[in-house]
Amino acid sequence: MTHFKLTNILNDVNNILLPTVCFGCNARLYRGEKTICTVCRNQLPLTDDNYNEENSIDRIFYGRVNIKKANSLLFFTKNGIVKNIIHHLKYKNQEQIGEFLGNWFGEIIKNDGSLNNIDIVIPVPLHKKRLKKRGYNQVTLFGQQLAYHLNADYAEGILIKTSNTKTQTKKGRIYRWQ
Ligand SMILES: [Zn+2]
Repeated sequence: MTHFKLTNILNDVNNILLPTVCFGCNARLYRGEKTICTVCRNQLPLTDDNYNEENSIDRIFYGRVNIKKANSLLFFTKNGIVKNIIHHLKYKNQEQIGEFLGNWFGEIIKNDGSLNNIDIVIPVPLHKKRLKKRGYNQVTLFGQQLAYHLNADYAEGILIKTSNTKTQTKKGRIYRWQ
């Protein structure tokens, strides 16, 4: 796979010509701010799952998959900052948002010790057709940052996506679970 996708190059050029703006609210970023402005950062709806012995993500897996612990960083709301930043991460070539979120989440779970002794971080893969189209897997930098903070290995190619399913946003909840 080529490392110099035209879209990425155009994106770099774009960043030079236009001032960088917050991916949450489109406000211009001040010096020292990166990716998300301070106002959005303070408004992001953190789940605080890491502080709960049993959280809502754990409960999703009950009776279905025997997991040790689940965790999440943010609540997703239909209209709001989280939706904006995830949209930019997935569809607007803003891969660095994954690094920002992974770095933040990694620091949280490292400091509170809610996920100890992790050996390996394994990202959920994209189908190769979608990977080619997007140019990157939106969870790669996120996973790498988690691995860095947890002092774990990061390994791609362990899970393999075999079917190119339609985008999850168009599927129902039950179908997504299956
Ligand atoms: Zn903002």
